[in-house]
Amino acid sequence: MPELPEVETVRRTLTQLIVGKTIQSVQVFLPRIIQRPDDIRRFEAELAGHTILEIGRRGKFLRIIMDGLVLVSHLRMEGRYGVYQTGEEVEKHTHVIFRFTDGTELRYKDVRQFGTMHLFAPGEEFTNKPLVKLGLEPLEESFTLQAFQDKISRRTTKIKPALLNQEYIVGLGNIYVDEALFRAGIHPEYPADKLNQTQLERLHTAIIETLTEAVEAGGSSIKSYVNGQGEMGMFQHSLRMYGRQGEPCLNCGGPVVKTVVGGRGTHFCPNCQPPYRTSTRARTKQR
Ligand SMILES: [Zn+2]
Repeated sequence: MPELPEVETVRRTLTQLIVGKTIQSVQVFLPRIIQRPDDIRRFEAELAGHTILEIGRRGKFLRIIMDGLVLVSHLRMEGRYGVYQTGEEVEKHTHVIFRFTDGTELRYKDVRQFGTMHLFAPGEEFTNKPLVKLGLEPLEESFTLQAFQDKISRRTTKIKPALLNQEYIVGLGNIYVDEALFRAGIHPEYPADKLNQTQLERLHTAIIETLTEAVEAGGSSIKSYVNGQGEMGMFQHSLRMYGRQGEPCLNCGGPVVKTVVGGRGTHFCPNCQPPYRTSTRARTKQR
C-alpha cells in the first residue's frame, strides 16, 4: 500500500502533469470507486468545465483542487494515475477517465478496486469523511515534539499500532513504521505510554528523517510515473529494515527478525530494539 512518500511522489508528478488543464468530460466505469456524490452521473457532470489548480495531499489522500471543487482520492492498495493521449488504447482495470480540453486524459487504474474518490466544495473536505478525523501531518511544521508527545505518550497500546493509527499521525504505514522504529531503537511492541523522553525524541526525529529521505528518493524517480507506469519499487532500495528478515542488521550485524504485531508483518532487530521490561520497582508499584 502506498504510504506518505509514495503518495507525495504521485502528488508531485500529477502537479507537473495536470495542473492548468481543464476537464472536458469524465467517464466512470466502476461506480464503487465514487463515494461522493452517490450518483456517478452527477459526479461526471459536476467535474466538467473545471480547471485543475493545484494538487494537495492530506495523509495518504490526494486533494485535486479545482476552481470550485476538490476531489479527494485515495489509491489504497493498487490505485494508479496516468496521463495519456485521447485515443490511446484504454488498458484493463481503468475505472475513471478525466478527459481534458487539450486532447490528453487522466486515467485512474486500480486492479484491486479498493481506491476511493470523494467530491467536495472547497474546504468542505476537511469537515467530512474521509479526512475529518485525520491526525498530525508528520512533514509539516505543526509536527512538533510536543504535538507528537501529546498524541502518543498516553496511549496504552503497543507503539507500532499507535503509529499506524491515522487519527494520531497520518501517512505512516507498515513499511515506514518499521523503518522509523528501527532508527529510533524502539521495539515495535513497546507500550506507547512507557516511552521515556529520550525515546520519544528519537522516535519523533526518526519519523521525520525516514519520511523525508523516502520522499526525496521518490522525487528522483518522478519520470517513471509519466503515463502512470508508477514504479514504486524504487523506494525499496533505501529500506534498512522492512523485508530484510534473516539478513544482517545494518547497525549490529545480528539477524533481522520478522514477527506479527497487531496483525501486521513486522521487522525488527532484537538487539538494537530491546523489548520493554518492567523493573522490579515498577512492578511493586503497580500492585
Ligand atoms: Zn541490530
